[in-house]
Amino acid sequence: MNGYDPQTRAVHPPVPAPAGSRPLGVPIYQGHLFAFDDADDLAAAFGGPREAFFYGRMGNPTVRAFEDAVTGIEGGAGTIATASGMGAVNAVLMTLLRAGDHVIAQSALYGGTYALLHDLADRWGVEVTHIPGDDPDEVRAALRPNTRLLYLETIANPTTHVTDIPAFAAAVRGTGVLTAVDNTFAPLLCRPLDHGADIVLHSATKYLGGHGDILGGAVVCADPDVHRRVWEHSTELGASADPFAAWLALRGLATAPMRVARQSASALDIAGRLAAHPSVQGVHYPGLTGHPQHDVAKRLMPDGHGGVLAFELTGGRAAGRAFTEALELVSLGPSLGAAASLVMHPASTSHRQMDAASLAAAGIGEGTVRLSIGLEHPDDLWADIERALAKAA
Ligand SMILES: *Cc1c(COP(=O)(O)O)cnc(C)c1O
Repeated sequence: MNGYDPQTRAVHPPVPAPAGSRPLGVPIYQGHLFAFDDADDLAAAFGGPREAFFYGRMGNPTVRAFEDAVTGIEGGAGTIATASGMGAVNAVLMTLLRAGDHVIAQSALYGGTYALLHDLADRWGVEVTHIPGDDPDEVRAALRPNTRLLYLETIANPTTHVTDIPAFAAAVRGTGVLTAVDNTFAPLLCRPLDHGADIVLHSATKYLGGHGDILGGAVVCADPDVHRRVWEHSTELGASADPFAAWLALRGLATAPMRVARQSASALDIAGRLAAHPSVQGVHYPGLTGHPQHDVAKRLMPDGHGGVLAFELTGGRAAGRAFTEALELVSLGPSLGAAASLVMHPASTSHRQMDAASLAAAGIGEGTVRLSIGLEHPDDLWADIERALAKAA
């Protein structure tokens, strides 16, 4: 650049080339464009998710590092990182569905996914059948010639219903129907692709990121062709992950195994103490022997059952509200999977889109309270919960 005007040199700073060393961590490639020396190389880059980087919406090295790390955790042919968990849900549904297609989805679904499915039904005539998710025969009975997708969640929110992924995926095998599993609640505990799922989704906003400081999502595909189709559509959707968020998610991933193990152990401890409390009618946690799918949960998640639990307060809606406000250490907030514990009352917040019948079908009561157990000492958490229970009673 010597010999150019300073104004031109300001636009073309030298890019340092590593000489004999390399960064140990993945750098943040914040730039959205990549330059080529060869026109054919640029043309080839448009061809697919694993070709050269050329434009940030289609791929970025920092984002790719996160995608490859998620593929390492979940298995599969490849991952597409998205700007949020709902970006991942949209990428999957919009890639795989056309007007008039049919989806079989479990009843207890993340609220945003439920709303999106019903939006697609209203506007584009996508047909949706909800099933309880207790018996794979529900799937066989719901199958239609236009069924394209079976949509499940490893651990449902907030009921903690666990679906027998291998049995349900087997029910559609050979029919051409793909099985997608939202594994947001159980990363590193369950690998749905090992159990016959075709696609795994994550809200990286939750356990993968783990610190409550990013929005992010991921779609992991068992099949390279599906991976490519999701890539194509998500680039059209414009829901690609931001490099800085991907970098924070990568940093979060490094401690995810320890965080998830600790949160699972603390949640089991708190669930047991809640189950013995007189103000509590029922506790939903897959690690409790009384949980309806405890045996399935043990088979799919031998090392723990995640940090989310829910319980019913005998005092109903009013008690649910009072309890969430009485907690001091646990914050009232609409997320989960962070280092800090969080509480929420689903009927008035995350699931407010659902009418009374859908709420009941999804197993959510007026007094249901959801806890996301964080990394605090479990004795401190229990002291806060016990105090709030007394106040709400
Ligand atoms: C939070 C969440 C989502 C949506 O993720 P965002 O990152 O908030 O868009 C999807 N599925 C489940 C199970 C979730 O908990």
